[in-house]
Amino acid sequence: MFQIRHLAAHIEALAPLANQESYDNVGLLVGDPTTIITGVLITLDVTEAVVDEAIAKGCNVIVAHHPVIFKGLKKLNGKTYAERTVIKAIKQDIAIYAAHTNLDNVAGGVNFKIAEKLGLQHVRILAPKTQVLTKLVTFVPVAATQTVLDALYEAGAGQLGEYRNCSFRVSGTGTFQPSDKAQPTIGTAGEYHEEAENRLEVILPTHQQGQVLTALRQAHPYEEVAYYLTGLDNQHQEVGSGAVGDLPEPLTGQAWLSYLKEHMSLNLIRYTPLPDRPVSRIAVCGGVGSFLLPDAIRAKADVFVTADYKYHEFFDAENRISICDIGHYESEVFTKDLIFGYLAKKFTTFAVILSVTDTNPVRYFI
Ligand SMILES: [Zn+2]
Repeated sequence: MFQIRHLAAHIEALAPLANQESYDNVGLLVGDPTTIITGVLITLDVTEAVVDEAIAKGCNVIVAHHPVIFKGLKKLNGKTYAERTVIKAIKQDIAIYAAHTNLDNVAGGVNFKIAEKLGLQHVRILAPKTQVLTKLVTFVPVAATQTVLDALYEAGAGQLGEYRNCSFRVSGTGTFQPSDKAQPTIGTAGEYHEEAENRLEVILPTHQQGQVLTALRQAHPYEEVAYYLTGLDNQHQEVGSGAVGDLPEPLTGQAWLSYLKEHMSLNLIRYTPLPDRPVSRIAVCGGVGSFLLPDAIRAKADVFVTADYKYHEFFDAENRISICDIGHYESEVFTKDLIFGYLAKKFTTFAVILSVTDTNPVRYFI
C-alpha cells in the first residue's frame, strides 16, 4: 500500500526539490502525503479536463511537469483555470504533484529525454550549477574509518559522476582532554590523550548535508565529533540547465530540420539561418531556453533546440549558431514518457497512466 509520500520520495530521488529554480513551486501542491494511492495520471499541465480524466480513470494522484499553482493563489473563487482546477481537485480528493525545474536541472531529466529523442551521444549538462556541493572533513580514530565512511556514503556523500565511494584520507594524531563531566569512548575524563586518527574528506550535495551529518554523528565513536564543512564553487556535473550532445552522424542543414521535425513529432520549426557547416553538436533546453544561448555557443553547438523565443532574441544567434524554436509543449511533451518510465518501473501495485488530454493551449493553422 503506497502512500503519496512514497511516490514523492521516489520522484525526489531523481529530481531533488533543492534543484528547483528560485521562482519555481514544485512538490506536492494539493493533497495529503499520507493518502493511499489508487492510481497516478501523468500529464504535462494540469487543467480541469485532466482532473476529470483522473477521476474517470480511478487515479487519485496527478503528476505534472508544470505547477498549476505557480506564482501563488490569493483567492479560490474559480475565476481562473488554475483556481477552478485546484478547487475541483480538492473537492474530488485528487492530489497534484509537480516536478518542474527540479526535473529540468538533473542528468536523466527533461533535457536528457529530448537528447534521447534526438538520438544524441555523449550527452552532458549544458550549464552545470555551482555552489550546490559541500566538502566535509572529519577526524576518525583509525579503527572506525571504514564504518564512518560507509555511513557517509550511505547518506549520499562521496559521489562524483559515475564514481561512488569517493574519499580521501591522511593519517595523523588527534589530541583532546575530556572534562570531568565528559564520557569519552577513548581516553579518560580529565586526562590529556593522543589518538591515531584519519582525516577524512568527502564531497556531498549541499542539500543532503543534514542527513550526512546525522549519519556521521551516529557512526562516529566519539562523544564530540570534530568536523568542518566548506561550500564549494565546483560545478556539479549532474545538476544544471540544458543538455548538449552530438548527432550520430553530421547532417546538412536541410536534413537536420527534417530530422528534428520527425524525431520530435513537430508541425512547425521557427529557426534562424543554419551555420555554413554540417550540423553535428546539438544543445537543447525544454521550454524557455534563451538564457542558455551563451552556454550553447560556448559548448560549440551548431544548433540550439528550445522554445518560447521572442522576435528580438532571435537576432542574438548572429550566425554563430542556429536557434530552432520547436514550441514549448512540443519540447517538453516527452517528459510524460520520462516520468511514466521512471514510476512504472518502481510501482506495480497501482496503475500509472499517461494522460491522453491534449493540454497544449497553442494551435497551428498551416
Ligand atoms: Zn515548460
